[in-house]
Amino acid sequence: MCGIVAYLGKKVAQPILIEGLKRLEYRGYDSAGVALLGSGAIKIKKTSGRISALEGILDEPAAAETFGIGHTRWATHGEPNTINAHPHLDYTCKIAVVHNGIIENYGTLKTWLQNEGARFVSETDTEVIANLIGYFYAKGDEGEGRSQFDGQNKFEWAVQRALQELHGTYGLAIVCSDFPDMLIGAKKGSPLILGVGDNEYILASDAAAIVEHTTQAIYLADNEMVTVGPEGFHTKTIDNVTVAKDLTQIEFSLEQIELGDFAHHMLKEISEQPTALTTCMGGRIDRQNGKIKLGGLAGYLRELTRTKHLILTACGTAFHAGLVGEFLFEQLARIPTDTEYASEFRYRNPIIEDGTVVISISQSGETADTLAAIEQAKERGATVLGIVNVVGSSIARTTDAGIYLHVGPEIGVASTKAFTAQVAVLTMLAIELGRRRHISSDEAGRYIDQLSQIPDKISQILQQSDHIKEIASANIDRDNWLFLGRGFNYPVALEGALKLKEISYIHAEGLPAAEMKHGPIALIVDGMPAVFIATTGPQYDKIMGNIEEVRARGGKIIVVATEGDENIKKHADHLITVPDVPELLQPILTVVPLQLLAYHAAVLRGHDVDKPRNLAKSVTVE
Ligand code: GLU
Repeated sequence: MCGIVAYLGKKVAQPILIEGLKRLEYRGYDSAGVALLGSGAIKIKKTSGRISALEGILDEPAAAETFGIGHTRWATHGEPNTINAHPHLDYTCKIAVVHNGIIENYGTLKTWLQNEGARFVSETDTEVIANLIGYFYAKGDEGEGRSQFDGQNKFEWAVQRALQELHGTYGLAIVCSDFPDMLIGAKKGSPLILGVGDNEYILASDAAAIVEHTTQAIYLADNEMVTVGPEGFHTKTIDNVTVAKDLTQIEFSLEQIELGDFAHHMLKEISEQPTALTTCMGGRIDRQNGKIKLGGLAGYLRELTRTKHLILTACGTAFHAGLVGEFLFEQLARIPTDTEYASEFRYRNPIIEDGTVVISISQSGETADTLAAIEQAKERGATVLGIVNVVGSSIARTTDAGIYLHVGPEIGVASTKAFTAQVAVLTMLAIELGRRRHISSDEAGRYIDQLSQIPDKISQILQQSDHIKEIASANIDRDNWLFLGRGFNYPVALEGALKLKEISYIHAEGLPAAEMKHGPIALIVDGMPAVFIATTGPQYDKIMGNIEEVRARGGKIIVVATEGDENIKKHADHLITVPDVPELLQPILTVVPLQLLAYHAAVLRGHDVDKPRNLAKSVTVE
């Protein structure tokens, strides 16, 4: 979480930093700030609130200030007030830092630095980084007969010395007033990319802040740092070992991150799902031969076909996609599969036997808990594969192989198109493994055929948006909702509840419908909305029973049902329909009305859909 941007070039830095911060604002938005160099001392402006609040306190941009760093924060340590906002200046007032991540040993370091005479003004862990660099920088000359940084740039040396003491995660942009043309970036566990333009450089947490200026970039790996100066840039490890990095082409365009005619990124991304899924599946579905081609997994399909145990690990929405995957792998390929929260998996003593394959799922490819789960699985000898959206992200680079979603950038904090694409990728993989292990080629061919029609079917569902808005409106004053499904649609119920919670702040519970009678049914009061996913399938009659149980107790029944199901009408207060597809393909469709329901509820309640309270995109902290 949090967005970092830095600019070093020939143009006036301030407007470039602000533009970049706006593009990164989805990563965090509780406070913001910039530090500018070029007119003498480091000039810092920061405030609580959004980038728009920061704009309100900025001076006119100065022509001499062609270098600066900026930050939009998602607080972890210290409330989101102005003092805790980044950039943080060290006690010698020479070093300024913006940081994404958490420094776990900041308490110990802070006490030690205070004893050494360093002064602290904020409650953040980040200030420890600034002060530690400032401390080494100030002490660097105090060697015995010669300076400790002998032969090396003193600023770079001090950064390295400080980073060697830190435990935790960081993406950093660092400046020093003695070097008004030198920028240092460093990464461990939080993303950092250097955009390399024509005599200008943009260092940022993600490519969204870079593409306007250049599409050439280098991606830093953990424990690496980049120093940018008048002679260009060089990359090293934090232990001062030179590393060569190739320039990479950033794969997306500015257009993809602009809102266009849409009111919100979330609505844009919901609406993009037909084209996004067409791209995601295009080239991977061979309808003619009834096969799936997943080039990214080419060397691993044999191992996957023989695996005795699959573990899917993810967080949040991606975890729900994983649950759908679990049903798919078991049903189609008969592979024992478990889906695990990455945040739990990483601290357990997981059983990884010979032949276990772990698949990690993450939109951003930077989710800290998922990255840690991958490390855990790798240490225990598992092959680890990734399903991620962001090309070149940490998970994409850490895993043995993987599949990109290829749905373009997802800016809305509430994930939508990434979810349907994650499920589409898992479905493709399950069909292919099924074809190799368990189901006939004919059966696989039928699923492939159906899957290729999914984008058109999503388009049909999207046409019900106004109707879904009316349903949201009719129930908007209710503060507790239930989402209920069975089988393949049980994870969709969880996802529907999560969507409603995260953007409308309405309390919602997602449950397997049959679990109601074991407790949650006690919650039902007159008029309480209960959203049932009751599409046709083997459990249709059972879920009818669950609907009646809720109805008998006064619940308001909202049903997502299969088109043409006349019977359901008499059981529902509100009805939304989805086209008929086999049960195992239903989740990609049934989730779409629930995304729209949450979106409309949030707008009706007057919330900022793309920047929900307390949340931020891409959870790069634990
Ligand atoms: N831990 C730092 C803070 O609380 C950085 C958080 C972030 O990544 O935005 O200020």
